[in-house]
Amino acid sequence: MSCFELISESNSSSARVGFLRIAHGKIQTPFFMPVATKGAVKFVTHKELQNEMNVECLISNAFINYLKPGLGTISAAGGLHKFMSWDKSLFTDSGGFQLILDHFVHKISDKGVSFRNPFDKSIELISPEKAVHIQNSLGSDVAMCLDHQPAFGKTRADYLDSLIRTIGWAQECKKAHDSNENKINPSQLLFGITQGGTHADLRVKAAHAMCEIGFDGIALGGFGIGEAQSDLYNIISASKKVILKEKPVYVMGIGSPIELLNAISNGADIFDSVYPTRMARHGLIFTHKGQFKIDKSVHKNSFAPLDPACSCFVCKNHSRAYLHHLFKTHEQNGLMLLSYHNTFFITNLLKEIRVAIRENTFEKFKKEFELSYKSKN
Ligand SMILES: [Zn+2]
Repeated sequence: MSCFELISESNSSSARVGFLRIAHGKIQTPFFMPVATKGAVKFVTHKELQNEMNVECLISNAFINYLKPGLGTISAAGGLHKFMSWDKSLFTDSGGFQLILDHFVHKISDKGVSFRNPFDKSIELISPEKAVHIQNSLGSDVAMCLDHQPAFGKTRADYLDSLIRTIGWAQECKKAHDSNENKINPSQLLFGITQGGTHADLRVKAAHAMCEIGFDGIALGGFGIGEAQSDLYNIISASKKVILKEKPVYVMGIGSPIELLNAISNGADIFDSVYPTRMARHGLIFTHKGQFKIDKSVHKNSFAPLDPACSCFVCKNHSRAYLHHLFKTHEQNGLMLLSYHNTFFITNLLKEIRVAIRENTFEKFKKEFELSYKSKN
């Protein structure tokens, strides 16, 4: 049975609402996952995510957890959900390796990624099979295949090379996942990841290959690293043409309001990104009238909320002047409040988008949101 159930489709775009059924819940798509790389979202607590923002799903990084605290501790706790005390849904990413551990990658070959362990300096090979077994031990609801993501701006030959390697690894990941009978989470799903940079033909080839291997869902990797927005939307659209309707499509690394709207308009269902919290830590605030920097002196004596149209705790209780003061004086509480607002803003935007798609007003909603977002504060 497919893990994805289609509920409603937009008349005038590829936007759609569905349900993703996974072990810890039934999540309405499209949805956005805040990133808990080490098991926690930076400056936002589980309580806030779960009780105040109704976040249904987080994504954590398998390798980071594997290195620290290590599988021994997480297995002793009963898996990553129990270790984190997070009983909603959880994805784990096995990639992001090159981005996170750039200095430590020793060699990438068809066998896998060998890296220098930053803690004990030993050289270790993460094969596709090992990447899957680590995630089997973590017990996430959705595990991701090991993929080879080249840096932005490489040649077509480099992207083709990484794509062929990624397909080979995907076949091995699938085999390892199917044959492991001792998963902590027996209903754990496995998603394949396409690569190919901004070359539509390579992306289509990758999507075909991933569909043929037979994954529960298809992810588009290698975005959010400097590509043109139009390339991103073209690739999603081209990939959707070869991916069966009953497969959920996950675009990794996308987290700005306008990109999310357009990716959804092209038919994407699932997203994750550090963008909202990372931008908050740099003082960049999302609002219905565009984004602004809280450190600008114009906010020093502004007693307005960050966004009058936002119903989050921070907007209801604190002024720009107060948040400007906390940010300028490097008060950690300021980073917490700004991260809270940006995460709430994105979570709430996705909620509004789902309603608009179901009510068949998505295109109108999108047009009005974009117009307002470009109007600037
Ligand atoms: Zn707010």
